[in-house]
Amino acid sequence: MVGPPMVCALRLVTPSAIQAWRPIRIQNMNPMRQKPARLRHLRQIFGLNLLIAGAISAVALAQYFGPSKRLPMDASDLSQTPPSGVAIATVAGDAGAPRRPTSTVGAPPTVSPPASGALGTPAVTSTRAPAATSPSTSTARTHTPTATAPAISQAHTQAPTTLASPPPAVSITWPITQVLGNSTLGWPIEAYQFGDGKTRLAFIGGIHGGYEWNTILLAYGAIDHYSAHPEHIPTSVSLYIVPSANPDGQVRVLGHAGRFTATEVPTETVTGRLNGNDVDLNRNWDQNWAPVGAWRNQEVSGGDAPFSEVETQILRDWLLTMDAVVFWHSASPGVYVASCDSVYAPSRALGDVYANAAQYPLHESFDDYAVTGGASDWLACAGIPAIAVELTNHTDTDGEKNLAAMRAVIAIYTGTRPP
Ligand SMILES: [Zn+2]
Repeated sequence: MVGPPMVCALRLVTPSAIQAWRPIRIQNMNPMRQKPARLRHLRQIFGLNLLIAGAISAVALAQYFGPSKRLPMDASDLSQTPPSGVAIATVAGDAGAPRRPTSTVGAPPTVSPPASGALGTPAVTSTRAPAATSPSTSTARTHTPTATAPAISQAHTQAPTTLASPPPAVSITWPITQVLGNSTLGWPIEAYQFGDGKTRLAFIGGIHGGYEWNTILLAYGAIDHYSAHPEHIPTSVSLYIVPSANPDGQVRVLGHAGRFTATEVPTETVTGRLNGNDVDLNRNWDQNWAPVGAWRNQEVSGGDAPFSEVETQILRDWLLTMDAVVFWHSASPGVYVASCDSVYAPSRALGDVYANAAQYPLHESFDDYAVTGGASDWLACAGIPAIAVELTNHTDTDGEKNLAAMRAVIAIYTGTRPP
């Protein structure tokens, strides 16, 4: 910490040093006393020249001792003790696997979720919005998700260099990470935002959890891509990526939430399709819902009621703020157009663009088996274009194909194809 005397010394460095010195010094000594009168008296006794000479000496001392000692200390403080209410995720790539909760006492079966506010999920940036400790859908709905995060970013990354000069213009570091809410077992459902334009596009990975783990890796790959190239997001667009919409299902297979590598994935992944209540989250939406849904030749739970699951509630409320939604699944290669009893034309248009760019076949419907309570169909009925993209298999991310398709989708809303 830096005490008041040092603060006074630093203030002397500024052009208005002498003007600033008097009120600050007075305040630090005793704010209740009438110091200006005493100073006038002092000036009468010792003369103004003596006062100025003393101030100049103080300036010289401050320049010699002040900045070189204070700044490193302050930078260290910032890196070790973030302000309360602000969680900072450390920088980590694939190699920096997310920290697993260190305590399993009193936890749900298998792996316990992290404590609220200490998510530790690796983010590409070092900044997390203050709202990260609680669901922040209200932030998303108001189209002002950047209102608080940039200020935090600036405070943590630039404060040590801005003491003696005006603050620089705010520069947003993308992505901004939001926690939309927590899963049935308490794992965070995160959204990564790039850009803050009016048109809001969402890409959702992992709604079928660890069973479709390659969609999660695809999403993290897209996050990495746009973290490296935020300039590819036009000013008119806000791009959102949810890497793992069913973190319970991911944890069942991987043993932890957040990033992972393909080498971590065990052979058996089927149980990772469901959430912590053993519900299929793509059978729980209020469109042709049924308590028992179909998955290939098996039965899966659609939940006790439409939107019985917290994950679908969270996604529903958030996705209603979007202009288009893409779900990534695996594996039945192709783009499947969402329909509301019949094909929804805007979904068809979205599917056309995606399929052409990714070189996936386009399907107007999914005919392998009846899907009840599906997410994309519910969105179509809500008037939001949506498609389900099935990757080629259960292991490859089809990264380049899907990045090309993302660029094409973004281009719909800008009129020009971004690089
Ligand atoms: Zn799926």
